[in-house]
Amino acid sequence: MTLRVLDIIEETMVDGVGLRTSIYFSGCNHFCKGCHNPQSWNLHNGEEMTIDELLDIIKADDFANVTFSGGDPLYQCEGVTELARRIKEETDKTIWCYTGFTYEEILDNDYLKQILPYIDVLVDGPYIEELRNTDLPFRGSENQRIIDVQKYLKGEKIMNLWVKVVVWFVCFIFLVDWSFELITMASTMANLVGIAIAIAIFYFTLKTKCFTTITFKTNKNEKGN
Ligand code: SF4
Repeated sequence: MTLRVLDIIEETMVDGVGLRTSIYFSGCNHFCKGCHNPQSWNLHNGEEMTIDELLDIIKADDFANVTFSGGDPLYQCEGVTELARRIKEETDKTIWCYTGFTYEEILDNDYLKQILPYIDVLVDGPYIEELRNTDLPFRGSENQRIIDVQKYLKGEKIMNLWVKVVVWFVCFIFLVDWSFELITMASTMANLVGIAIAIAIFYFTLKTKCFTTITFKTNKNEKGN
């Protein structure tokens, strides 16, 4: 399998935390106003490279982690996913991926979401000139988020399980109330209001814990920033 690559920059520190090998993939259809790299939009620009060739360059640096940028790497999602899978299998390097899609758009799309299990950090969303902020680390506009992908994926699973538990619990309460007629309608309503408040508080606490963007800590693979 081959990928079209515009450029590879080794030992950079601007595309994520620590020292990184940045691979700039060709192709992008987001056409953001004020894009810093419009020549990257054409999928046919750049050079054809095999996954093995890219892996050789990545592995040649023992210290640098990896960043996928572009263009938008997800316009070659199948090949980039295969590259990410091989990096995870054959090295202990972390992967940052820049994309003009939002995390939610990726989750809703089977073709795009295949890459998520192999990505550590996603910098998501298009560049919006009106929201440009040069003080932001590692991104150009305020709408873009730096997402700890594995934490988000775990959060999705926890939230889905939690919603199922709540639905079953509420059904159970209704069944008990109606079957045994042990409590009056008033106390039933009070119970339900209390339960609803408790559920809402727990839901928002859990959601905040599960879906926060990354804080800038270095890990054992990263040299610091
Ligand atoms: S997503 Fe990035 S490369 Fe694509 S148009 Fe927007 S700024 Fe340019």
